[in-house]
Formats: sequence, C-alpha cells, structure tokens
Amino acid sequence: MVNRVPVIAGNWKMNTDLSSGVELARKIAEISNGVGGVEKVVCPPFISLGAVSEALSDSDIGVGAQNVSAEPDGALTGEVSASMLQCVADYVIVGHSERRANFSESSQDIAKKAISASNSGFTVILCVGEDLGVRQSGNATEFVSQQLNESLQGFTNWDSLIVAYEPVWAIGTGEAASPEQANEMASACRSVADSLSEGIGDAIRVLYGGSVKSSNIDSLINENDIDGALVGGASLDADEFSKLIASAAGN
Ligand code: PEP
Repeated sequence: MVNRVPVIAGNWKMNTDLSSGVELARKIAEISNGVGGVEKVVCPPFISLGAVSEALSDSDIGVGAQNVSAEPDGALTGEVSASMLQCVADYVIVGHSERRANFSESSQDIAKKAISASNSGFTVILCVGEDLGVRQSGNATEFVSQQLNESLQGFTNWDSLIVAYEPVWAIGTGEAASPEQANEMASACRSVADSLSEGIGDAIRVLYGGSVKSSNIDSLINENDIDGALVGGASLDADEFSKLIASAAGN
C-alpha cells in the first residue's frame, strides 16, 4: 500500500478581495502552519495570487490557481497561461464543475489544461463529478469514469495528479455525499487511472469535495480511497478550514 499524504485544498472561488484574501491566508497560517502529515493548499482568485503567495511565503501552505489557459501565449484576452502562474502558485484546479457548466469547458478542454499545467510543473487538481440527474439515474460511476478518462487523455505526469471527486449535487448545498458513496466513486477514479497507466490508481491522491465541514470530514477521510478534501464554503473561514486540516493530519 502506497503512503498517500492527505491534502486539504480550499477553493475560494470568486470570494475575497486583495486585503481580505491576504488576511484570510494569514489567519490560516497562524493556526495551521507547521501542522504535519497533511498538504495544505489555498486557491484564491487570480487577482490575489501574488499577494497571498507572498503572505504565505514563510509557511508550509501551498497556493493554487482556480483555472489556467491550455495555451502558452497569444491573443487570448482575459486568459492566464501556466507559465504566468509559475511565480505565484504550485497547484492548479482544472475541470471544476462550475467551469464545466458555466463556461462550457469540455473534458477535452480540461485534458489540454491539465497537460499544460503539469508540463509547467504544477500539481493538477482535476475535478470530476456527476449532477443530480445522473446520480438519480444510477449511472454515476459510468459517468464519472468516462469524464475522468476523457479529462486525462494524453496526461502522463502522474506524480503531479490529484483527482477531486465532487458530485455537483453536493457542492454548496450543505448535503455532502455519504462516506460510502464518496469512497465508491473515489475507487472508480483509481480504476480509471489504472486503466490509463497500470499501478497509478493506488498512487494518486483522490479527494472528495462537496459540502465538507468540520462535522463530516472525519467520516469522509476515514474511507480507504479518500485522501482529503477540496473545500469551497468552509475554506473561507480560517478556524473551520484549520479544523479540516487538523482532522486530515489525524489531530
Ligand atoms: C467546491 O466548489 O469545490 C466545493 C467543494 O464547494 P463546497 O465545499 O462549498 O460544497
């Protein structure tokens, strides 16, 4: 059995401005810097990446971007390339359901972004997840497996991959998946990775995301195939986010 270091990553989405983002990062660092046995990441909006990265420079808390262009440069107004992010982040989230749904990003688009980011040295947090209709139809495993398979086409830097299983129906709803549901899907994600490169399924980290909070984190990360959480709402509260970090560290 491979020793997979747990990860707690906060996705701040389009919340916080420059000063409140730095303040939040500092508070998280005050409580959680030095907590061992867990990888900690915050993903602020693009505008705050530089300042948050600076504020956390003496800490063991990593910084991630919430998106990245698949292209290296060019006439792409409003886009940000992987190389531009290199001085302010070490992680990049790709394929979040809000980007898939609201910005029409396909799994093929996401595969290109994941490859571009990993080639530039980033750890890629690749999100997959089914919506409520798919869950109710009983096809969640097939849907998520296909989504992950398509989102990983051409991807080869397996060391740089973290998968986040995030059922759309659990994001921001207060209704998390049950530990059993989450574990079953995390296991399916490992099988997909294995089918693309034998032995990788057991090595990659797979996170659960969707209404994670301090009251449910323990039961989720106790599951064998879940290595931590990608957290939205609860990552905007330094005390609550730090409790998640402490739980993942086993404290
Ligand atoms: C997310 O959007 O990645 C997420 C998991 O959100 P929340 O924790 O608020 O459900």
